[in-house]
Amino acid sequence: AKATINNISRQTWNQLPKAAGCIVIQQRDASSNVPTKLTAMKRGTGGRSSFSGVVATVFGANGFLGRYVCNKLGKIGSQVIIPYRCDANEVERLRLVGDLGQVLFFPFQLRDEESIRKTVQYSNVVINLIGREYETKNFKYSDVHVAGARRLARIAKESGVQTFVHVSHLNAKKDIQKVWKTSEFLKTKYESELAVREEFPEAIIFKPSDMFGAEDQFLNYFNYYSRWTVFGQFIPWKSGLPIWKNGEYTIKQPVYVADVAEGIIKAILNPDMAGQTIQCVGPQRYYLADIVDYVISILRREEGLVRTNRTFWIRLRAALLDYIPSRPWYNPDKLEREALTDWTVPGMLTLEDLGVTLTPFDDMAKFLLHPYRQYAYYQEKMGEFADPEPPKPAEF
Ligand code: NDP
Repeated sequence: AKATINNISRQTWNQLPKAAGCIVIQQRDASSNVPTKLTAMKRGTGGRSSFSGVVATVFGANGFLGRYVCNKLGKIGSQVIIPYRCDANEVERLRLVGDLGQVLFFPFQLRDEESIRKTVQYSNVVINLIGREYETKNFKYSDVHVAGARRLARIAKESGVQTFVHVSHLNAKKDIQKVWKTSEFLKTKYESELAVREEFPEAIIFKPSDMFGAEDQFLNYFNYYSRWTVFGQFIPWKSGLPIWKNGEYTIKQPVYVADVAEGIIKAILNPDMAGQTIQCVGPQRYYLADIVDYVISILRREEGLVRTNRTFWIRLRAALLDYIPSRPWYNPDKLEREALTDWTVPGMLTLEDLGVTLTPFDDMAKFLLHPYRQYAYYQEKMGEFADPEPPKPAEF
């Protein structure tokens, strides 16, 4: 299988559909070069082997949200084009999201317009899920979020794409609150919304709060727990789990990743959603302190856990952790994002308006964290440990 995907991904675009047994190619009006309506070519009963009328290019498909979006697109019988910049083997697993020949891969670079143009030329939907939680040597926040998103929106418009979906962040606003220094991530995410609207006015913008799910960066074992073990347990002054003000003043409204993916699918199938901005939040609000307590108690790692209220040490550690290459657990920007309370804008559309039934946090959290808990064997065999109570929702 690896050999096949490598061979296919290295062929030219024109050879791809034939090689992969592709059954749907977008047709163009020769005079205007505008794609004809693929929706007219819909067929089947709506399952995996039907054709939904959607040929979607999904940028950032191998990311956390991307996997769910591609899966849902494949399930309704869409053709999915997956541009990737990594090794082809890393995106290989996504081939299974759709029917045979309906998932196509193409190498691209965010700064290479020609490669982007080739990946969107036959699509009627383009979904931009590209984002980065930390800056790298090659890409600053503004390169990825603003310049990159603007480029994708412009090329999509020029190529005659009908629907462009962009994902920003709930707390990306004109006036961003701050506890230390303004988050560059949120600032550039807000600028990305303006850039996308400028290039593609009918774009649909999604603004999710922190998303939780399998392998997320919110609930995950590697988020709170490793932040504490690496920099709380082993350093001499034992300054504890770095969370701004212990999370006692921060309220979060996390949303389940599959709900956001479902919202994206519903929005691209609904022509009334053109030009709309949709906020994605979960059904309940919680104090961050309660979420952290719950996570740690499910993992059964309470003993020895020290919290800190010393903002100087938190800032210092965030700054130091930023230097860890390739996988920063914590950095000043994350500190800032994590410390902000999630607020929705009254009157703006939400996932519920799209008909998505929201998944409660406490239904999923225990299930997601279960593989990481200590003494799981003893509990199952001897029933020794009681399960912790889920956190109580915040009062407002
Ligand atoms: P991930 O970090 O899991 O995935 C990001 C994707 O963007 C990856 O496919 C990555 O590709 C790609 N990417 C990053 N930088 C570049 C670049 N310079 N050139 C090309 N591709 C790049 O993100 P999520 O799936 O978690 O999030 C999807 C979107 O939602 C992002 O825009 C994110 O900012 C936003 N968001 C996420 C939230 C969350 O809780 N996760 C909350 C709110 C908004 P590669 O694998 O090759 O690096």
